[in-house]
Amino acid sequence: MQVDLAETANIEKLISRVGAGLDQFLKFEHQDCWQSETQWRECLDVALPSQGVGIDQIVDDLVAHVIPNGSAISKPGFTSFITTGPTSASVLASTAASIAAPQRYSLTAFNLLEDLSLRWLASMCHIGHMQGVYSSGGSVANLLALGAARQFAFEKLGHDAGAYGVPRPVHVYASAESHHTIQRSAGVLGIGRRAIQIIACDRHGRMRVDALRAAIQNDRSSGIVPMAIVASAGTTNTGAIDPLKELGEIAKENGIWFHVDGAYGLPGILDERIRHLYEGLEMADSVIVDPHKWLGAAVGVAATFVRDRQLLYRAFTQEPADYLEGAIKQETAAAPGIEHSMDDFGVPYFDYGVELSAPCRGVIVWAMIREIGVEGMTQRVKRHNDMAAYIATAAKEHPNLELLLAPTLSICCFRYVAPGIDDLDFFNRQLHRRLIRENQNLPSTTQVNGKLALRPCFVGARTNHAQAEALLKDVLRIGQDLVEELRHRAN
Ligand SMILES: *Cc1c(COP(=O)(O)O)cnc(C)c1O
Repeated sequence: MQVDLAETANIEKLISRVGAGLDQFLKFEHQDCWQSETQWRECLDVALPSQGVGIDQIVDDLVAHVIPNGSAISKPGFTSFITTGPTSASVLASTAASIAAPQRYSLTAFNLLEDLSLRWLASMCHIGHMQGVYSSGGSVANLLALGAARQFAFEKLGHDAGAYGVPRPVHVYASAESHHTIQRSAGVLGIGRRAIQIIACDRHGRMRVDALRAAIQNDRSSGIVPMAIVASAGTTNTGAIDPLKELGEIAKENGIWFHVDGAYGLPGILDERIRHLYEGLEMADSVIVDPHKWLGAAVGVAATFVRDRQLLYRAFTQEPADYLEGAIKQETAAAPGIEHSMDDFGVPYFDYGVELSAPCRGVIVWAMIREIGVEGMTQRVKRHNDMAAYIATAAKEHPNLELLLAPTLSICCFRYVAPGIDDLDFFNRQLHRRLIRENQNLPSTTQVNGKLALRPCFVGARTNHAQAEALLKDVLRIGQDLVEELRHRAN
């Protein structure tokens, strides 16, 4: 018997068995995997097999031991991370791509959807004039955007930084609330993490315009190249949106690249009640958004947008390679005509970023937008913003709650308060751990102006108003229990 054959002929049956396990998972009736850790560890943690068990057993293992002991992230009440349980359309599309188009290149329907969905996504987010490229997440998307910024800043000085590196120190201006992947990107790009100039925020978590002006002024005669201003359209911490218009104008005045990190918050522009906060987005030289956050894709999909992808090309080209050129006959003026899908690379995404082999991500975004349309996406975004607003109103009104920051998007920062609690940070941290262990509603915590806050971030497609209500109820109940325990101990 041939034992090295991966069985694919039965994919329909096999997938339906895995699908049944996933449907069961999506009922969210299982315990947290921590509770049964000994059992599944025993079943799974076996020695390297010399003989295979066959694909039927693999499916059984997946359904019996792996899937039911997966992550809490998919739960509707999970509001800690901005990544969330993916929608079914997203998962089906990525499964289809992994079989029918293992790479995003060459003339295929998938390659078409790669570009089409980038245009849809740009258009949906009001940056229809920009060109995009997908990557694995906001970390890489920010890296690509800052790579374009580096290329731009030095080309102005007659120097190709992509080819020859960075000959002079640079500064990048980003707020204290900006995502730390900005720092790491600077490290990877060879300008150094310390090139990031941290600009102070106001009490709402937005970059202070006066502080930015002062920092740029201060650098003026230093010989340091001002490389980019990084604005956040929705900070990870609180969802704050920097004053994009003012920051964009400063960037223009000074000829500095203007980057907008909208990994989480860019889809917020769909909510017309807060659209004015995105004024100035049209001035951006680069913008990123993570479809694997608010839009509901499975993790592994981000997009970077710039005005002209040729700049990305000059920043990131790997330069021609024989194994690539030899694989695909590019149509040229001398040898025109396409007679096979491998006669055309399609859009050469491998030169616009840092990944060569890469999955088709466009089909995922295409499926999600096509499934519910811009209208559906808008409704979802507004529902989540409403949920944060609902918590905020309750926190303002209830004597045992305190609103720590009025929400801009779908994050609300609040805490439990009661007379006689000395250390509210410690108290709320305890409350939070108890809440998590109940395994129903799982927000994170954060710091807001020096105070520990409970921080639900509503982004999951399966999350609705019931979760916001349940979270409040749980916080109030656990808070009261803890207060009573404190009193008991005091007596
Ligand atoms: C999540 C996030 C990132 C990083 O994205 P990953 O997809 O986790 O790599 C960057 N910026 C902001 C504002 C984010 O919220």
